[in-house]
Amino acid sequence: MKEPIEYHKNLLKVLHFAMKQNFEFLDQIKNLEITLVTLLKKIKEFLHNEELIQKIKGFERELGSFSFAGEEQKKRVISDIYETFKNEDYSNISIEEAKKSSLSFFFNSLKDYQFISNEDREKLALKGIQNVMDILYTLPKKYEDYTKIDQIESASVGKEVQILGYVTSKKVITGKRVYMEIQIQTQRGVLKVILFNYKQLQFLFKIQIYYLLRGVLSYNTFYGYHLVHPFLITLKSPSDSQNYLTYSLKYGDIGVLDEQFSNYIKDIIAIHKEEFNEILSEKILKDNGYPTILETLTTLHSPNPSQVDFSILNSGESIYHQRLKFEEFFLLRLVQLMKKDAFRNRKGISISIDFKLHQDFLKSIPFELTFDQLKAISDLFEDLRLGYPANRLIQGDVGSGKTVVVASAMLQCVKAGYQAIIMVPTEILAYQHHATLTKMMKSFNIGVQLLVSKMKKKDKDTVILQLEHGAPQIYVGTHALIQKQIRYNNPGLVIIDEQHRFGVLQRKTLQEITAGINVTLLSATPIPRTLSMGIFGDLDITYIETMPKSRKPVKTASITEDKKDKVWRFIKGEISKGHQAYIIFPLIDESDVLNANALLKEYEKMSSEDFPDILCGLLHGKMKVEEKDDIMRKFHEKEIEILFATTVVEVGIDVPNATVMTIMNAERFGLSQLHQLRGRVGRGSAEAFCFLISPQSDVKRLKILEKSSNGFEISREDLKLRGPGDIYGIDQSGVPKFRFVDFDKDEAIILNASQIADRYLKYDPGLIKNRSLREFLEKLKDNSYWNIS
Ligand code: ADP
Ligand code: MG
Repeated sequence: MKEPIEYHKNLLKVLHFAMKQNFEFLDQIKNLEITLVTLLKKIKEFLHNEELIQKIKGFERELGSFSFAGEEQKKRVISDIYETFKNEDYSNISIEEAKKSSLSFFFNSLKDYQFISNEDREKLALKGIQNVMDILYTLPKKYEDYTKIDQIESASVGKEVQILGYVTSKKVITGKRVYMEIQIQTQRGVLKVILFNYKQLQFLFKIQIYYLLRGVLSYNTFYGYHLVHPFLITLKSPSDSQNYLTYSLKYGDIGVLDEQFSNYIKDIIAIHKEEFNEILSEKILKDNGYPTILETLTTLHSPNPSQVDFSILNSGESIYHQRLKFEEFFLLRLVQLMKKDAFRNRKGISISIDFKLHQDFLKSIPFELTFDQLKAISDLFEDLRLGYPANRLIQGDVGSGKTVVVASAMLQCVKAGYQAIIMVPTEILAYQHHATLTKMMKSFNIGVQLLVSKMKKKDKDTVILQLEHGAPQIYVGTHALIQKQIRYNNPGLVIIDEQHRFGVLQRKTLQEITAGINVTLLSATPIPRTLSMGIFGDLDITYIETMPKSRKPVKTASITEDKKDKVWRFIKGEISKGHQAYIIFPLIDESDVLNANALLKEYEKMSSEDFPDILCGLLHGKMKVEEKDDIMRKFHEKEIEILFATTVVEVGIDVPNATVMTIMNAERFGLSQLHQLRGRVGRGSAEAFCFLISPQSDVKRLKILEKSSNGFEISREDLKLRGPGDIYGIDQSGVPKFRFVDFDKDEAIILNASQIADRYLKYDPGLIKNRSLREFLEKLKDNSYWNIS
């Protein structure tokens, strides 16, 4: 097989020729359209970019009627093709098979290096440093440059300085406070060292000996220039700091002395000096200005103070750091994309879309869908149409209308004779979806079956029987749907709502059951794109960013606890208008009985003292399923006006008549979770309100919610403030562990690395041509580098 790059080159050659001298030769080229169609077909085979594929299909159609086209039209077609392909960059890809294997010594165990003592090796192992890659990729946390000597006269007070000098005198000063004053003669002027705890420290300073002193420079009229308890290094001679003592590296808590560790690294680099074969192509290094891996590691572990600026190294943002970040994300992206490609090579079903049916469905919905909803539907249709099992994540803010989007795909699926299954994390939600979908499907004559564990055995068995017989219907249920013994018959689409709510185990079972089937995951919390890429990189992702026009932002205020009476009055006002309210309590651990009791007491007190004439109800996770259902039903039917609850209400509950959401101890929640809770109100036509009650009003974090009602923006703030594992809806175990990449700070590098990885695989799917890179990735996976499955 020829390389895609060859076809591309040829294509450009032909196009150039056709366009030469303003299309002078256009009519003289023989078989132009056939040549172009052939080349485009070949290129198409290598593509994974659906948009580009569709574009090529368009060109093919136009070329099909090329001979009948007028001159202007021909010119336009040729120019369009040229515009599309001129910038596709193929040179990025090293197509020729790499001869040498890349960096295979990275995976050598430290046991292979005799010069590392057993004792040190064990200590390092405790810190997770076990192979060469671990040790080389443990970077210094701090770089200290001893060659940079400050002079007192030019140094600024209040800044950290490094000063060279010798001791001329030491004396103890008595008075209100006893201390020791040490006179230091520097090259220009006198500096004092002040020691308050001088009993032991004083012996570090000897008369006439040279020291390098580091500390924050202070000045006052009494002492003059001085340092209090400085860090010091004893020098043999004043030129020491220019000669052998040039810098030191601090690696942080690694169990071994910094100097020893640094020497191990230098020795390892020296041994393998000739084996640092790049894993990044020359083109990538050149385009991004990145140094080679050898230069990167040499500089980071033994920097030359006269060549690199230590303050940049200390910032962690040097070009060397950037290279490692890029490499780390690039490699992860390759792994994820290859996993995704592997899925695409599996055979799945192909369902053709009935557009008339779709029109009818849209007409039956009492509102107009947003642009993003329509886009999401077309993504799902594409998944159904293409003959491989798709895995898609729909990221949409709470209330963005994901249910109707998946309903439209389920309808197509069932009408084509397949089953559509939607799984939700709680029974309450299952009932709610069951009701919504039954209503939506009524005029289409489609069955909607419910399956939850608390149903009567007889009813459950009936539904399971229908499932196993392949009855084409919609099935709504909880994890009762994924019991191992159920044999799915002809599922066309499986949807998992509020996907983060399912545990790892359930997700695993589900993966086994749904292998080969189209799966669509619905998220509850939109998360920043960088993070999506890191966590869900092996899925296709659809973003729903626009909200239905009818949804007004929920008016939000953060309120101090002492003013909560005002909020109570406000709630009473809303209730007198016929509306309902939520009051949420933070129960960190739902299974904690003590906590639940405290909540019960609080509830009894508040409902009788603060809201004596109002119908109150309580909902928490420790309650029995029947009790919970009963409470939710009462709330739906307005038999409860204020629902006191824990975060159990966060999951997708839809009671449009509720207009007030009050959250107690809001400071204990993450912003995305508060946003999710807030999304429970503002679902009807009336204006809605959210009160975040916390001890200090100056909780700056909460102000973000007053200003923003955009879930993407809010989770971004959470990422900044608390890190990826703390964003609501993210399963800590799913976040890849990076040594270098920071999801918040490294957005540009992440996007760049990801784009280049995309392109890389487009022209060498499966890295067939790049064996050494492929092997390197395999080894990284074996070593569970990112700690992902
Ligand atoms: P979520 O994305 O949080 O699951 P839902 O699908 O539950 O949101 O939709 C929230 C509410 O918005 C529902 O009552 C739904 O009927 C309504 N809705 C959905 N799409 C639109 C739209 N385009 N215009 C108006 N209302 C909509
Ligand atoms: Mg939902």
